[in-house]
Amino acid sequence: RTTHFGYQEVPVDEKASRVADVFHSVAARYDVMNDLMSFGIHRVWKRLTLERAGVRPGQRVLDIAGGTGDLTLKFSRKVGPRGQVVLADINASMLRVGRDKLLDHGVGGNVEYVQANAECLPFPDNSFDCITIAFGLRNVTDKDAALRSMTRVLKPGGRLLVLEFSKPDNPLLSKAYDDYSFHLLPKMGQWVAGDADSYRYLAESIRMHPDQETLKGMMEAAGLERVEYTNLTGGIVALHRGIKL
Ligand code: SAM
Repeated sequence: RTTHFGYQEVPVDEKASRVADVFHSVAARYDVMNDLMSFGIHRVWKRLTLERAGVRPGQRVLDIAGGTGDLTLKFSRKVGPRGQVVLADINASMLRVGRDKLLDHGVGGNVEYVQANAECLPFPDNSFDCITIAFGLRNVTDKDAALRSMTRVLKPGGRLLVLEFSKPDNPLLSKAYDDYSFHLLPKMGQWVAGDADSYRYLAESIRMHPDQETLKGMMEAAGLERVEYTNLTGGIVALHRGIKL
């Protein structure tokens, strides 16, 4: 479906095509794997993100790297018929699974679906009251460009929330988590989705992702203010929030 925003050409590089392969491969089983791999805890992390977003009826929200649309579904209920939520993702397979799921949930007129790269968002400046990127930033090749692009399309007073794997704050938890992600996770990927490689990539991308303080600094460098974060599940995940003033 063509939207009034239009679509965006996606620049291809090696990491981007690797990420594309991973998400084309896991799209159909993404939701069930998410529940299995996180023991359902991703639902709690997303609920907290919704609370911290503080979205009100009538507002415009962008859920970038929104994949199968868990957050979009929650936001569409919050903003109501006068508001709008854009579910955007670089990957057509994820977007398709997300759109089908939201339609099954009876979501209608206030959600738009846009294939877009977070690094160069195809929206005018100052478009959104709130932007979320959940478990998406670590897949983006140029994270600084993505943070700048998201800041650009935020309205003044709007907020960006980044929900992402981070650095556990306790060495014992860190060791257990490494064992889990480098050994058990690829095996689960093999058993459930017949795809160990995608889940090996997942573990590697988590290890490479900037820690809490580094990401906070990157958000500030992109022009966001009052940046703060909350560690969830011992820092396995962190929720960062910054405001465009
Ligand atoms: N936000 C959803 C959630 O929390 O369940 C999906 C997260 S999924 C782990 C990561 C998503 O990021 C994938 O759907 C992938 O296609 C998308 N993605 C990766 N690189 C991207 C980019 N440069 N721009 C937009 N989306 C991207």
